[in-house]
Amino acid sequence: MDSNLDTCTNLIGKAKNIVVLTGAGISTESGIKDFRSKTGIYQMAPEYILSLDYFYQHPAEFNQFAMEHLYHPDAIPNKGHEILAKWEKQGKVRHIITQNIDGLHQKAGSKNVIEFHGTIKTASCLHCGKIYPTEEMVSRMQTMEDFYICNYCKSKREKEHYIKPDVVLYGDAGEWFSVDGFNTIIQLIEQADCIVVLGTSLKVTPFSVFPQYRRRGAP
Ligand SMILES: [Zn+2]
Repeated sequence: MDSNLDTCTNLIGKAKNIVVLTGAGISTESGIKDFRSKTGIYQMAPEYILSLDYFYQHPAEFNQFAMEHLYHPDAIPNKGHEILAKWEKQGKVRHIITQNIDGLHQKAGSKNVIEFHGTIKTASCLHCGKIYPTEEMVSRMQTMEDFYICNYCKSKREKEHYIKPDVVLYGDAGEWFSVDGFNTIIQLIEQADCIVVLGTSLKVTPFSVFPQYRRRGAP
């Protein structure tokens, strides 16, 4: 057997409190494109399209892009998601911290999941916070010209009433981007006896710094 694989098997076998960090690579077998590989999202669109600046300049195009390329309501979890859910039930995996917005960890049965970059399941008005299921956004897009403008709130100020998918963009801050959010995550990492990183090249900060907080000697 491959000696790296042996090493991983042993480490995971012994661990009792694993924190798993995941990225797009764990979902590609479920038919969801990753970002940086040869067949990834960035081959068809520049990274800039996933920025808050782009969203404000082109809210309709951004929403359309998100619904066409990031929203996969029919995707099903693969073996990778399933085994992590099983390990959580067995008490081996304590928490998953994911950059993925696809919800597949939860679909596989994992309960302790931090969606660090948000979720594509919903979108929210930036002014009143009204939540729109993405399913509803898809039908709005098909039937309304200004589908990305909230019709619940009274904000007449331009750009405030845009509806944005609940995903964290470049230049954006999500629900975990706070002192409390970071402390919660760092605590989980510090308490873990093993950190497993799956399907991510750890290129995007601040997610990429999390492994540095593991306690001394934790593999
Ligand atoms: Zn609103």
